[in-house]
Amino acid sequence: MADHYEVLGVSRDASPEEIKKAYRRLARELHPDVNPGADASERFKLVTHAYDVLSDPEQRQRYDMGGDGSPFGGGAGAGFGGFGDIFETFFGGGGARTGRPRSRRERGQDALVRVTLDLADVVFGTHRDIEVDTAVLCDTCQGSCCQPGTQPTTCDICHGSGQVQRTVRSLLGNVVTSQPCTTCQGYGTTIPYPCATCQGQGRVRARRTVSVDIPGGVETGLRLQLPGSGEVGPAGGPNGDLYLEVTVANHEVFSREGDDLLATLEVSMPDAILGTRTTISSLDGDVDLEVRSGVQSGDVLTVKGRGITPLRGGTRGDLRVGVQVVTPTKLDAKERALIEDFAKRTKAPAPRLAQFHQGMFSKLRDRFRG
Ligand SMILES: [Zn+2]
Ligand SMILES: [Zn+2]
Repeated sequence: MADHYEVLGVSRDASPEEIKKAYRRLARELHPDVNPGADASERFKLVTHAYDVLSDPEQRQRYDMGGDGSPFGGGAGAGFGGFGDIFETFFGGGGARTGRPRSRRERGQDALVRVTLDLADVVFGTHRDIEVDTAVLCDTCQGSCCQPGTQPTTCDICHGSGQVQRTVRSLLGNVVTSQPCTTCQGYGTTIPYPCATCQGQGRVRARRTVSVDIPGGVETGLRLQLPGSGEVGPAGGPNGDLYLEVTVANHEVFSREGDDLLATLEVSMPDAILGTRTTISSLDGDVDLEVRSGVQSGDVLTVKGRGITPLRGGTRGDLRVGVQVVTPTKLDAKERALIEDFAKRTKAPAPRLAQFHQGMFSKLRDRFRG
């Protein structure tokens, strides 16, 4: 097999630029579209293969060390990036048509932090300092990825375009495809002295504290978005967002229905008969309640505006208290005699069938059973 350097007419220490120039010149001369002869076609194949090998630093090194055992036309590593315009790619401006190098700077990932709140936190909203463990900008290089005082240099292989062109043989002839440069990973530049603090990433992991105002009215499963509070991107790219996923812990007394708070008030039989006043502890202070004489199990006492502040603002929900009359279960002889006397005097009616109770109280009761 002919020596690749001889085929291209360059010396063994030719620079990538010289190799490319030689290939361009020969390709112009030998391309089948220009020079249809069988001899030219064979030479074109040789030239293209030689260029394939010598333009790839890894393959060139292997070849120089006696490698390149790949059969002629194997085109190792070449893929079909689509059929480019052969003429344009070979004879046109070349560089101008190739893709732009990609940027090292990319947007950072979003971060998710979970926070558990008490129901009382939800009534008005609350403030939390959240510990977040994410990538932050590297102080040493400020995201440049380079050791201070140094900078990226233009990639020798792709000359800053981030793309290298390969010729791939196909049934339709030679096709030129553009692929990301493997030397610079398509960035167009390489970093000769990576920052030692961040290993050239432009960012480091760190724990930081984010202060968050959590509005009232949030519910379990809700995610609050904090734009720009996520991790910093590679090479100091823009921050992702931080999401705060809320869990509201169950309260031993109060439950929630929309923006209303629900609870049960157990009332003794005498209090239910005679009526009473009582003070209950709501989630935001004491509330006086009047239990009217003759109150029934299932009656609901509504305290306006002592519920939850709606997430989108507006009037607070209500506190709704369902009454449950507690029947005495243990009576001594005298008490029993009093109740029997009471029943006689009031001509208490026999049990009577009525419609099933679908009111608020049954909902409340079911909630508390669960
Ligand atoms: Zn750094
Ligand atoms: Zn490159």
